[in-house]
Amino acid sequence: MVVSSCYGITPGSTNWGQPQQGSANGDREHAEREAYAHYTGHRGDRNFRGLSVFLFVQDAYPCRECDTFFRAQSATKSFVFRITRNTAGYGPPTPLLERRPRPAMGNDPAAYHAAMQAFKNAAPFVQVANLGAVQTPAVLYYHRGSAYLNVTPDGFPAHPDISRF
Ligand SMILES: [Zn+2]
Repeated sequence: MVVSSCYGITPGSTNWGQPQQGSANGDREHAEREAYAHYTGHRGDRNFRGLSVFLFVQDAYPCRECDTFFRAQSATKSFVFRITRNTAGYGPPTPLLERRPRPAMGNDPAAYHAAMQAFKNAAPFVQVANLGAVQTPAVLYYHRGSAYLNVTPDGFPAHPDISRF
């Protein structure tokens, strides 16, 4: 069973407060969307107005459907997923963005200088399609329609620390 706890805050809040819970046993259930629905869905409006940063703490990666859902939602809101385990076996969603690695120093200063210039001129994030085995815990961010693994996207709103989860 996948279990998700969802915390919603306004930007600049100093703690995450109390979470809403969701759980899923089968393919048609989606723990993270169930938890999120406590803020947004038919379960009612719990001071949803103004909440725009959400933290999910759960023991699985989002499934493909939930990945699609949160990419779309991230046009106007920002999501952090603290993935404690990979119980459902989905692994990280794709495509993902990761920060472009800095060039290695090497033995050729001119080549390094050229590589650094290219690095500085390029977009800071690159798309990755297949990460292979990924360790948990992991942190997944959804922001402005894209997903990022273990790297905070540029412009992501300030939020309380997540290391205690
Ligand atoms: Zn799902």
